[in-house]
Amino acid sequence: MKEKIAGRLREVANDEWKLGLTEAQIGQFIIFAELLVEWNQKFNLTRLTSPDQIADGHFLDSLAVLHAVKLRQGGHVIDVGTGAGLPGIALKIARPDLMITLLDSTAKKLLFCDEVIGRLGLDGIRTLNGRAEETAKLPQHNGSYEFVTARAVAPLDRLLGWCAPFVNVGGLIIAFKGSSVNEELATGVPAAKRLRLNLGKPIPIVIPGMEPQTGRYIVTARRDTPLSPLASRMPGGERAPREPGRRQTRLEK
Ligand code: SAM
Repeated sequence: MKEKIAGRLREVANDEWKLGLTEAQIGQFIIFAELLVEWNQKFNLTRLTSPDQIADGHFLDSLAVLHAVKLRQGGHVIDVGTGAGLPGIALKIARPDLMITLLDSTAKKLLFCDEVIGRLGLDGIRTLNGRAEETAKLPQHNGSYEFVTARAVAPLDRLLGWCAPFVNVGGLIIAFKGSSVNEELATGVPAAKRLRLNLGKPIPIVIPGMEPQTGRYIVTARRDTPLSPLASRMPGGERAPREPGRRQTRLEK
């Protein structure tokens, strides 16, 4: 496990993508992987548990965003539907300058994230338990982030509705998508228009040496104009917001 994870991160993240991970950061990824496998025996966190699958399917897939998109130094990121901390914890390990909020509606997944955060001694990262469509309406989160990431959470149209209220003008939504990306764009494009988001062309995620390549894409949506209160309620849920349980706060308020 250790050698496989370390080898792939050196070969792809460093040699190909020039992410400049140190041996200490690679060591943090190894601990993250070991905890994922250990906890997965008790909680259903992921289907991908072999060293190859974790290295390529989770870590490099998550880190591909750093190769594809420029994330400003010190930028605030919310990872919607983070699950076991993907891509949020992977981004934090690789880019300790980013301030990261890990949001999930399932509290038990955040227990795992808290364990990883504690074991790795990560700072500037917090977990937050709540539903995206409700949390985004709260004043402390509405328009508070420069970047929203979401991997394997919801179809693009719904996801854009959930994520748009989190970003301020100039903010970017970064959705990780699979081979259904073109079908999702059929409804994603009108949703982006309604939400006044500027949707980019899907960027293929190519992980050198991974066979077969699994048809993965990053779709970005930039908010160039303020979001109207009406648009922010579409097409996400219409329920009144409730205060989500805050599990841990490691970021400054
Ligand atoms: N992003 C992780 C990954 O790529 O491995 C987890 C993906 S998992 C398939 C989807 C996650 O989204 C689950 O942990 C689920 O609890 C969370 N989720 C689903 N709907 C949500 C919502 N409305 N608000 C917040 N989290 C949500």
